[in-house]
Amino acid sequence: MPIIEIPKDLVPEDSFLNRIPKAPTGRYAHLVVVRETESFPIFQTDGTLNIAKVSAGLQSNNSLIRLAMFKRKQSSPERLTGRELLRRVNITQNEDSNGDDYCDYNEQFCTTCPDCVYYGFAIGDSGSEKSKVYVDTSYSITGYDESHQQFSFNALYEKGNMSQHGGVRSSFGEQDHIVPQVFFASVITIKDVTVNSFAYVLNNVLRTKRYGAQTTRTGRLSNHIVGAVFADGEIFSNLKFTQAIHDGLGDVKNETPLNRAKVVQTAQTVTSQLLQNDDVNYRLLDGESLQQLLGIVKSATTDEEKLHHFLQEANAETQEYSERVIQKASNKKKK
Ligand SMILES: [Zn+2]
Repeated sequence: MPIIEIPKDLVPEDSFLNRIPKAPTGRYAHLVVVRETESFPIFQTDGTLNIAKVSAGLQSNNSLIRLAMFKRKQSSPERLTGRELLRRVNITQNEDSNGDDYCDYNEQFCTTCPDCVYYGFAIGDSGSEKSKVYVDTSYSITGYDESHQQFSFNALYEKGNMSQHGGVRSSFGEQDHIVPQVFFASVITIKDVTVNSFAYVLNNVLRTKRYGAQTTRTGRLSNHIVGAVFADGEIFSNLKFTQAIHDGLGDVKNETPLNRAKVVQTAQTVTSQLLQNDDVNYRLLDGESLQQLLGIVKSATTDEEKLHHFLQEANAETQEYSERVIQKASNKKKK
């Protein structure tokens, strides 16, 4: 008996595959998420916050400069959360072991563990595996102006009473930070989904609470799952999702920080509206059915023993796939 079982009346019958297929088979699970900052994270490249100029809403001609959270800024911390757990239960090993099960993000991919198989990897010429987890740039619901704050970090270097010399402040450097309670709308897609890959990715999303640069300057972020969509194709983009929420909330410029309950409620409402125009067959779980689904996964992932078993089951699944597909392909190459 698998540790995590999803009742047949909760999701459509063939939502989950029994094993990871070699070729795509049109089974998609989408996690519809609203990410909320809880401190002062920085999502940047080259020292400036990532931004994008886009239309404010779907029904508006006004443009708006939004904060952008690039793909890797979302997926890397979530992958590292899962990897930490795999090491904790000895599925992958730490640097002291030299076996084949040593796996280190972007350093050495073992090609068999749940992280390598579900999220994919590329090791130069010696092989690669496409990610089955799709994440795209997500955008802040509110504009850049009301969603960031500039701090000078002269205080860090202050040896005396520099605060009396306000004029020299800029020479000490300034840094834009995203402020707390800024909301990013994000869809996470799991392709060719199995119960294990779904639960593995969901667990990572629920547990990851720090985003931003990997070592320093991370900030707290909390993920609110507003829906789970099982479909035979891709659904709406993060940008559309953001713009629809913006329309649903009305004029948000003077309402920061946004009310969390209102944002989540609006995100839920627009999810079911947007899905109707996505030209796919789908089942949306929200409200009570979503809570039931989340409850089933959480009851396994928040119990130490069950979590251990679950990760082993996921690992058995990815190992089997790796042998059947990844290693076969790399053997062929060698010949
Ligand atoms: Zn691995």
